[in-house]
Amino acid sequence: MSLTHTVVAIDGPAASGKSSVARQLASRLGFVYVNTGAMYRAVTWCALAQPEPAFGPDALIALVNGTRFECSLVDGVESFLVNGTDPGEALNSAAVNARVSDVASVAAIRQFLVGLQREFGARHNVVMEGRDIGSVVFPETPYKFYIDASPEVREMRRRRQGYADRVAERDRQDSSRTASPLQIPAGADIIDSSDLTVGGTVDVLLEHLAKRGILPPTV
Ligand code: C5P
Repeated sequence: MSLTHTVVAIDGPAASGKSSVARQLASRLGFVYVNTGAMYRAVTWCALAQPEPAFGPDALIALVNGTRFECSLVDGVESFLVNGTDPGEALNSAAVNARVSDVASVAAIRQFLVGLQREFGARHNVVMEGRDIGSVVFPETPYKFYIDASPEVREMRRRRQGYADRVAERDRQDSSRTASPLQIPAGADIIDSSDLTVGGTVDVLLEHLAKRGILPPTV
């Protein structure tokens, strides 16, 4: 499939810094920032809000079929709405962290969300971050990055954010699942952000992109 817009794909493990980097990079480029983790979190949040939460494929498919999920554009950032509402900070709760990798391992849920991600990327220039963007969602984009950081740095970053999150356990689940496991996409530039600030990491990505002709707009 040929792309109609520019897609910068950023993948990497939990708490590698990719969300902050992707958000800032999008703002520098004038692209729309898309956090696909928030979509898997939104489905998880919805499942947890049911009177009897269930996480099997059939229950999750029924849940998705009975709920309106949509990508909307708010102030240059993609916002994922559930029945017209942005769940906001609830997406980062300990309960969502504990179940989101189970939800993300269900192939039908992935298929549904990947469809929305592709539709959105066909309408906007995007910086899209997740686990399978360069490998599955937009394998045809030439602009792919894999952002990593040491396990110690990632655990520390999550603690500083004040979230209860078993990062190593999520990574283990995300890397070992059958459906679109976390992997380094073919052709991705690998960036280790352990010793870099967010701004420093963004500068490294911008250097890589500039060599390929993608430049921030001049003001
Ligand atoms: O990026 P974030 O840590 O918010 O992602 C939450 C979870 O969503 C991940 O641990 C993973 O299970 C799932 N995910 C995914 N594919 C993506 C983005 C997130 O499987 N593209």
